[in-house]
Amino acid sequence: MPRPIHARIDLSALEHNLHLVRRQTSARVMAVIKANAYGHGLLPAADALRAADGFALLDIQEAVRLREAGFRQTILLLEGAFSPEDVALMAEHQLAGVIHSPHQIAMLEACPQRESLSLWLKLNTGMNRLGFVPEQFAPALEQVRRHPAVREVTLMTHFAHADERPGVAAQLERFESLASPYRLARSLANSAALLRYPATHGDWVRPGIMLYGSSPFAEVSAEQLGLRPVMTLTSQLIAVTELQAGQAVGYGGTFRADSAMRIGVVACGYADGYPRHAATGTPILVDGQRTRTLGRVSMDMLCVDLTRLPRAEVGSHVTLWGEGVSVDEVAQAAGTISYEALCALAPRVPQTFR
Ligand SMILES: *Cc1c(COP(=O)(O)O)cnc(C)c1O
Repeated sequence: MPRPIHARIDLSALEHNLHLVRRQTSARVMAVIKANAYGHGLLPAADALRAADGFALLDIQEAVRLREAGFRQTILLLEGAFSPEDVALMAEHQLAGVIHSPHQIAMLEACPQRESLSLWLKLNTGMNRLGFVPEQFAPALEQVRRHPAVREVTLMTHFAHADERPGVAAQLERFESLASPYRLARSLANSAALLRYPATHGDWVRPGIMLYGSSPFAEVSAEQLGLRPVMTLTSQLIAVTELQAGQAVGYGGTFRADSAMRIGVVACGYADGYPRHAATGTPILVDGQRTRTLGRVSMDMLCVDLTRLPRAEVGSHVTLWGEGVSVDEVAQAAGTISYEALCALAPRVPQTFR
């Protein structure tokens, strides 16, 4: 018997979440599938999202794999080319690429392609990570448009605070003032901006996390947004044991029983991608009932409170996150965000798609 841990990927939930995006906007939808589709599996996720107008990711080999699998949509490399060979591959496979810095323009100019290239010029409007600052923008655009192989240019930026205060106003204004002289397509919105700021939709929205059924906002649940969880991580109890009053459980003995209690041991640990920092009290389902984790998460197991689950036994079904207990709640209890928890799903966890 294989170890009982397992991740079920609900492809119909992906389709549902994409429909929900469509209902929010008339812009074209670039489904963000970086990091192995946020841990959900690149090709199965892309297939479920085939109604999207485009796909965005980082790895050029993955982009080529998508092309070779028959996807005809726009495929955008979010960090663009890392080398001149990448520019050649982009041309060969008709992959669009972000241009975020002068060294990429130099790469482009050193690499005279005959095929037509589609480039997304990234503006730094306040994130201060990638992109051209306002003073660099006009000359950069000029250089890119002069290149004979460049067929189309889209202007893009990325928001630092779309999910929280102070919001997008300052960055949006900076972007608009730079972009307004040009009749070029625009792309600004991640999931949070898509949901909260219709003025940012432009020509292309770039949702990621919401497609996977997780909320981009700390204070609004995915369910409230009408999103359905895509990944459900399940396992089973592999042991049930008693703690006497005063006994502690797990490394460091961080949880100590006040009185005698039953606990269960779940076959799931941080080597499976479950966050090690999930504190005592992190929500978890046993036989469909909500309970809490106890003590530190180990590499291959974690412990749960069975006080109110007298019928739980070895083999009882456990849901770590997904249907019934959202990955957002688990991530929050671990001091992280759903993005990190989902992407961290370990290759050793078998996935099934349905
Ligand atoms: C990851 C990413 C997105 C998607 O962000 P979500 O918060 O997951 O919706 C959009 N744009 C860029 C440039 C990104 O890197």
